[in-house]
Amino acid sequence: MKKTPAYKGSVFNSYPDLVQNRMNSTKTMQDFFNDQINEESLFENLIIHSPKNLNFSTNDEFAIFQGTYDDNFDVFLNDSKLTLNEAGNFYIEKKLEVGANYFKLEHKGTVANYTINRQVLSLHSIDASIGNGKTLEVEGGTMITFGAVAYRGATVTAVINGQSVRLTQQDRSLDDPVLNASYAPFIGQYTVPDGIINQTQNLGTITINADYRGNIQNAIGASVRVIALPEPPPPPAVEMPVVNPPDITDVSQTGTGEVIGKISAIRHENEAVKYVKVTKNNTVTLPGNTTGTIPDPNFSRLPSGTIDYYRSTAGSFYITENGKRISTEDAVLEDGVGMGENNLVVLAGGTSSDRRSFLRFALDSRSSFNVKAAGVEFHTERGDDHFNVKDFNVTHIYIDFDNVTSVTALPSFEDNIVFSAGKWETPSVNGVPKFRLVLELRKRGVYAGNYAQYNSDGELLLTFPIITQSLAGMSIVIDPGHGIGPSNWLDPGAIGHVREFDVNIAMAKKLQTTLSEKGAKVTVIPTDATFVSAFSERNNYARSAGCDLFISLHCNAVPGRPESRGTEVWYFTPFSQPLANAVSASTAEYFRSSVYSDKTLSNRGDKYSYFAVTLPQDYPAIMIELGFVTNYEEAMAMANDTHQSGLANAIAAGVQQYLNR
Ligand SMILES: [Zn+2]
Repeated sequence: MKKTPAYKGSVFNSYPDLVQNRMNSTKTMQDFFNDQINEESLFENLIIHSPKNLNFSTNDEFAIFQGTYDDNFDVFLNDSKLTLNEAGNFYIEKKLEVGANYFKLEHKGTVANYTINRQVLSLHSIDASIGNGKTLEVEGGTMITFGAVAYRGATVTAVINGQSVRLTQQDRSLDDPVLNASYAPFIGQYTVPDGIINQTQNLGTITINADYRGNIQNAIGASVRVIALPEPPPPPAVEMPVVNPPDITDVSQTGTGEVIGKISAIRHENEAVKYVKVTKNNTVTLPGNTTGTIPDPNFSRLPSGTIDYYRSTAGSFYITENGKRISTEDAVLEDGVGMGENNLVVLAGGTSSDRRSFLRFALDSRSSFNVKAAGVEFHTERGDDHFNVKDFNVTHIYIDFDNVTSVTALPSFEDNIVFSAGKWETPSVNGVPKFRLVLELRKRGVYAGNYAQYNSDGELLLTFPIITQSLAGMSIVIDPGHGIGPSNWLDPGAIGHVREFDVNIAMAKKLQTTLSEKGAKVTVIPTDATFVSAFSERNNYARSAGCDLFISLHCNAVPGRPESRGTEVWYFTPFSQPLANAVSASTAEYFRSSVYSDKTLSNRGDKYSYFAVTLPQDYPAIMIELGFVTNYEEAMAMANDTHQSGLANAIAAGVQQYLNR
């Protein structure tokens, strides 16, 4: 005790105790006197990362015991001795029977008794957008999305209007720290009939059924009513003297203002109308003929002040005449008169010092528009929705302007780094002719998104990040996944042989060092110190750091499947796919060559999904699932300082390969 001033109290209270060497205590004391002991951990008690509570109910198939302890003394779980792995943790998965399960964890005479009650809830929940008590009033031909969270492997069906729709289990994990790995999202889609003009067609209520090994659960959802679309107004006339001008670019950077095309107005200034007016910058738009909140990478974001004619309200969304669905939280309804003539003047184009090319326009009315990469090949092989991209190698970007009645000639693209040329076209979109600005990429597939806003002069400014081959000067934002929660609790992410959050934080620091050495300006979101919500806040954090490229770091886990391993990288925007592809390949190759004893490649590849951090459309964003904390080899590598550096170098090499395109 003299040797250790912090220690208080007595060790032995009788001579027989000393002789008995209870729980190895006498032997430990002798080792201590002989300096043969790990003093660092001697006064540490058992630290349990998982399970958090002694008594709880779970839908998990496994209970996971993970933590660390003073390795001078043994720890027993149900009388079997635990051992610490190379990372200093113990990790045990115990299969749970349905009903009550009892476990006893013992260390230095302290006993923790667990009662874990396993429930099987085949259907956990259904999406709020189709929730019970709601009335879903939709336009004829709308595709309703049925979303549910159910037990992995369950058979999930939705019944509506006497028809049964099968919901398919999605590849993606849940973007929810509370739900466990036994649950998966399920999605199904149903297109409602066209409806009956001047009548409301009632389709009855939605029922969702889930069956997991005979464990059947049902949920009653919203009732659905179909409103038939009215006859559309006759299409306006197009006046375009030169339909496809061979060269309409000017020599200067500034537009000449010369009007080169006209379309007559759909609604005149003497017509009373209702507008949907966007009230926030960077507002998400969704397809008007769908329901739910699953975003669509083909629908671009809109700046505050944008207006479109109001068509209908569906749940908590407004639907505009041009087929956009906007949350009622991001827009207001306003009465007014038709836009009438709405002239668009191309003011200028070029490149600015903040690594963005830009185009600047003046519009009489702030009418809506949509920016998208033209001709992206989507494929559906991987199951989760329909926006998996094979290879992003497009040549053109389209900007479709709604309700614009005249446009002017384009400036020279000489100083535009992203685009080499542009021209105006007037294609019909759903039977309505529109002005489309067709922009030619300087290099095939080299495009990194756009951001739209009205500047202080009231001009519409579209900016496009520039991808250079060098990392020098590039602003890269790293998000270590998970972190401090709302009231200071820690969301540790997945628990395995190591904790996901510890890996994410360590890897973020390594990656910061590696990328900074190559000249990048790196920002790490401080998720270990402050609460930064995974939804929107991390994106806003990145945007305020002038983000050119965004990397979110995570680890995978599958309890009960220790053989599952490999790297996968998620993207949402098609232009982020090449980055995801390159990073997944280089990281998987590091595991193959430097970690796995069998030297076999396990590249799970690039995959589409819609995690909150990958949704931004103004820079490439990826979410890396580095490896599995439930796979021993991967977990030990991810917790090891040397391998962390190796993995950071592999990620950086993937980023460099992407830039080399
Ligand atoms: Zn995670």
